[in-house]
Amino acid sequence: MYMLYKLRSQGLAVQGIERGDGVGGTWYWNRYPGARCDVESMEYSYQFDDALQQEWEWNERYAPQAEILSYANHVADRFDLRPNFQFETSVESAVFDEATSRWLVTTSRGETYSAQWCVMATGCLSSTNLPNFEGLEDFAGDWFHTGLWPKAGVDFAGKRVAVVGTGSSAIQSIPVIAQQAASLTVFQRTANFSIPAHNGPLAPKFVEQIKSDYTHFRKINNETFSGFGGRWRKYDDSILAADEQKRETRFNEKWALGGFHFLNSFADVGASPDHNKFAADYAKNKIRGIVNDPATAELLCPDQVIGCKRLCVDSGYFETFNRDNVKLVNVKDNPIERVTPKGLVTGGEEYEFDIIVFATGFDAMTGSLLSIDIKGRNSQPLQEKWAAGPRTYLGLQTHGFPNLFTISGPGSPSVLTNMVVSIEQHVNWISRCINHMRLNQMNYIEAELGAEDEWVEHNNSLSELTLFPGCNSWYLGANVPGKPRVFMPYVGGFQNYVAKCEDVVHNGYKGFLMQARA
Ligand code: NAP
Repeated sequence: MYMLYKLRSQGLAVQGIERGDGVGGTWYWNRYPGARCDVESMEYSYQFDDALQQEWEWNERYAPQAEILSYANHVADRFDLRPNFQFETSVESAVFDEATSRWLVTTSRGETYSAQWCVMATGCLSSTNLPNFEGLEDFAGDWFHTGLWPKAGVDFAGKRVAVVGTGSSAIQSIPVIAQQAASLTVFQRTANFSIPAHNGPLAPKFVEQIKSDYTHFRKINNETFSGFGGRWRKYDDSILAADEQKRETRFNEKWALGGFHFLNSFADVGASPDHNKFAADYAKNKIRGIVNDPATAELLCPDQVIGCKRLCVDSGYFETFNRDNVKLVNVKDNPIERVTPKGLVTGGEEYEFDIIVFATGFDAMTGSLLSIDIKGRNSQPLQEKWAAGPRTYLGLQTHGFPNLFTISGPGSPSVLTNMVVSIEQHVNWISRCINHMRLNQMNYIEAELGAEDEWVEHNNSLSELTLFPGCNSWYLGANVPGKPRVFMPYVGGFQNYVAKCEDVVHNGYKGFLMQARA
């Protein structure tokens, strides 16, 4: 939406193409019960228009899905964006025409648009991952994926419900479904760490204080590693140097604050498994303190490093396992074998359900891009170029695909940050770049191969210094069978990434070939 707004205000003719029948992206599709942002609402919003950020009223510390969707609709109306969107339309192919340096974009409606520039704003977590369970088509009840939730909602009252998965979507939906369903069975393959959100109504005084100087608030967030949480103290001392009492005090402080900030209890929580163990043990003891049944508590205790898979933020997740109508089934050693007309089979046992909820995640970062038949110079398919994993320069372009930009593409900080902040930064960069080309009568831009290779190498070597490669996360593509195992987001920090992007511009778009072509 912001890309469309920005390019349109620069005088370009812009066509937005959207699969849904409305705006909102992630917040349009993920309507599952309990869906809520885990970045605070005063931070998870656009900053490009001061009147917009002053007039919009958030109600809670962490905004629920419905409120963010209302916000997206408000933005669409306020800036009159709908006329430029074609809804209920999917892009099927995008082919670069070398003779004209234009993209030919063909949609599910059979239309082909010819465009000088093509911007893929297809999202990082928008292509759902539904494991290929044998027998699913014969299931007699209803099944849903959290990432494609029906608009009309789902009535769980009196139903026997299964949730498959224990990632963020499951951890948010399980407490809410458990309150509505007759029974809920959770199928867990990998236990996950989750920190309480401590959600609640926003205090008017706090909102007033931020709105009195929103610019400063944005600035301190934009200068952080992740684009949020700038007002919270980040400690720079080592976890190894602290004694037990200091560690406990610090962990208590960050646990009480809630959310991702727990990982900032010390400067080096992610330095090595030995450093990390203190924080992981603290979080596991919290689980043991909440869950009454010791065997269930142990099953819920993760056996990996904390922060290696994306941390979850919850409201009453572990407490839910104290309910009489909730049961946990470990499918780590006995994978789900198949779906039957009545339910699911694991470990040779059949569990019967009326509804199955698949909270099984996404083909992250590349799934939506690669589901479009994108062909660049020499008719090279993007699927072929990225066969061994995505390769980009700054996550903005990939060599061989001129005039094609990706917003929050692989190789940019994207999913490791506050997404709205990263999206705005990319939109600002791309629109400035296009403006620069137009002012200089240029119509061709392509990331240079050498710059791309260096960027990929830089990103890979940075990620190897972290604990991220050590677990099977979607950051690595490890959740999708057959997907190359490559750490996809840029791990060097949002503030450092922005500095690099600015440096490229100030050095005449270093690493990009820019030309005027007939
Ligand atoms: P996810 O983190 O990828 O979790 C998927 C879950 O399904 C995992 O527990 C996975 O187990 C399990 N699973 C997958 N295939 C399975 C199989 N065949 N059998 C049993 N279990 C299986 O997906 P998600 O929860 O949708 O979250 C994805 C990302 O979306 C989050 O990490 C976050 O970035 C974003 N998100 C954000 C929010 C928010 O802002 N609050 C909310 C929801 C999602 P394994 O771990 O063993 O693979």
